[in-house]
Amino acid sequence: KGSVKMAGLGLRELGGTGLRVTSVSFGASPLGNVFGNVKEEDAIASVHEAARLGINYFDVSPYYGDTLAEMVLGKALKTMPIPRESYVVSTKCGRYGSGFDFGAERVTRSVDESLARLNLDYVDIIICHDIEFGSLDQIVNETVPALQKLKESGKVRHIGISGLPLNIYRYVLDRAPKGAVEVILSYCHHSLNDTSLLELVPYLQDKGVGIISASPLSMGLLSGQGYPEWHPAPSELKAACAQATEVCKAQGKSIAQLALQYALRNRDIATTLVGMSSVDVVRENVKTAIEVEQSTANIDEELLQQVEQILQPVKNMTWPSGREEN
Ligand code: NAD
Repeated sequence: KGSVKMAGLGLRELGGTGLRVTSVSFGASPLGNVFGNVKEEDAIASVHEAARLGINYFDVSPYYGDTLAEMVLGKALKTMPIPRESYVVSTKCGRYGSGFDFGAERVTRSVDESLARLNLDYVDIIICHDIEFGSLDQIVNETVPALQKLKESGKVRHIGISGLPLNIYRYVLDRAPKGAVEVILSYCHHSLNDTSLLELVPYLQDKGVGIISASPLSMGLLSGQGYPEWHPAPSELKAACAQATEVCKAQGKSIAQLALQYALRNRDIATTLVGMSSVDVVRENVKTAIEVEQSTANIDEELLQQVEQILQPVKNMTWPSGREEN
């Protein structure tokens, strides 16, 4: 009593999971070198700095860098500066360097393999990775039930699904037993150039499903640092994002900061996963998140309007992902 609370990142409920997560969270795919090579010591330092600054949610997958991201994150978790019960880890199953397999046997084995790499004895959330590449009926009838067994054994605490097309979420959530799928991880649909995730928010809230939004920088298109060669966006979208980037640069402003401010402003989204792999970027993004939370962010509304105008012709433009029938 009477002590002055340090201004920091607050926590938000993740649907009905009982988990509370920070508005900005740590996407560990860059630790698998998917956005360029990262030194292991820098990767580990960035995870530890994130934890020290209050970020309490870390996401990874065995797919990122063909298990490399999990191994590097695992090394960082081994010497984490905060206790295990104070942070949340999600990893994924069903997507691997070798391809897709959402079968019960594979995902069950996958969780054990991930736990070993992560140096953990449980993960808080297990997410079926990019389910549009599999059979959605298999996800409902086989994958989720297999993960529910792992929940009983204590190896996983909550179950989620991820993927690009937004229709996959209703398909699975309308068919899986109530409460079986507790979170969704959507990506590239809540950013300066794409807000299509918002249409799904009332439905998800109604179901009590936690909303994780990833890639607020549109997987690098809005990073100001260029994007990876594998980026699947149509060239029209890439060109518009490049133009918006130039407009920011010409005014000495960071498009990454603007994009993050924009994504974090919406409090219906429990948490926004940003790919990070350097201490400086972690510090910058935490600072931005705290400013947005405390409404002290100096969002440059004029610049935002200019950028939105440039992006208007490509608004909500996306790209094909997964099997055609999905
Ligand atoms: P992102 O939009 O977060 O962009 C990441 C890129 O932006 C990286 O190159 C990073 O170094 C750079 N960056 C971050 N902050 C910056 C800043 N302040 N200034 C300049 N550059 C900055 O895309 P992402 O990494 O693909 O998405 C975030 C995370 O979400 C992933 O790491 C992953 O954990 C998760 N994700 C999951 C899925 C899925 O489940 N299918 C898909 C996409 C992302």
